[in-house]
Amino acid sequence: MNNEKPITISYWLQHSGLARLEARLLVQHSLSVSHADIIAHGQRLLTANEQNTLDQLRARRLAGEPLAYLLGWREFYGRTFKVSDAVLIPRPETEHLVEAALVYLPKHGCIWDLGTGSGAIAITIACERPDAEVWAADISTEALSVAKDNATFLQATVRFGKGSWYQAQPQPAAHSVDVVVSNPPYIAVDDVHLQQGDLRFEPQQALTDHHNGLTALTAVIAGAPTFLRDKGWIMLEHGYDQGQAVRACLAQHGFMQIQTLPDLAGLDRITIGQWSDTTQTEPATN
Ligand code: GLN
Repeated sequence: MNNEKPITISYWLQHSGLARLEARLLVQHSLSVSHADIIAHGQRLLTANEQNTLDQLRARRLAGEPLAYLLGWREFYGRTFKVSDAVLIPRPETEHLVEAALVYLPKHGCIWDLGTGSGAIAITIACERPDAEVWAADISTEALSVAKDNATFLQATVRFGKGSWYQAQPQPAAHSVDVVVSNPPYIAVDDVHLQQGDLRFEPQQALTDHHNGLTALTAVIAGAPTFLRDKGWIMLEHGYDQGQAVRACLAQHGFMQIQTLPDLAGLDRITIGQWSDTTQTEPATN
C-alpha cells in the first residue's frame, strides 16, 4: 500500500484487497502474532519493514500464489503440515483416502504410501495409528526432506524410501504390506486445470504424468501384488472422471472387491481393490 504515513494493522487488513481470512493469516504469519493479538492491538502501527513484507506477500497472493506456500503450511486432518513449492498442497479430498485406509488397515498392520509428497497421508496414519508400520516413498529429494520435517515435528514414526514407486529404497519386504495407498499424479497433461488457480504454482511432477493421467495410477496398480499380503488392499485417489478406468485396471491386474468411493461433492475420487493370492491361479479376466 502506498502510504506516506505509517498505517495500523487494522488499516492494512481492511485495505489489503484480499479475503479477510487470508489477510489475517498473512499478518499473523509475518508479524508472528496470534488472532487475539490482532484483535487486542489492531491499532498498533506497522514499521516500514513490516509493511513492506506484508505488501510483498499481498502482491504475490494477488498474482495467484497459493496461500499455503506464502504461509509455509497447510492444515490436513486437523494437523499442521509444512509445505513448500516442492510438494503438492494437501487437499481435503485426500482426507477421504486417509479415512478409508484407517478403516482397512488391520491392527499392527503395514501400510505403504507411494508418492508421499509432504507426507500428509503417511504421517496422518502414523499419528492416528501408532500401532501401524508406516512406510512412505517419493522420488523427489526435496519432497522427502519436507516429509521428514513433518514427521519429526508431528512425532510420527514413518520409514521413508527414495525412488520411483516400488523401486524406492529402503522398502518393505515382498508380501508384507496390508494396504498400499497413493495419491499419484493423475491429471492429464492437456487438462486445462493445470493452467488454473493453485495448480499453476505446484510441482508439475506431483500433478500430471505428462500423458493421459493414467500412467502413474497404472504403475502403482501393476506393482502392488509383489508387496501386498494375501487379502491386502490398494487404495487410490484419482480424477472425478477416472473411476471407470481405474476399476478396469484393477480388474485387469487381478484385484477383487473393487469399489469407488465418492468425495463430499459426490464425485468418483477413490477406488479400492483387494488382492487375493488364491484367485491368481486362473488368468485374470476383464
Ligand atoms: N501424497 C501427497 C498428498 O496426497 C502428494 C500427492 C502428490 O504429490 N501427487 O498430498
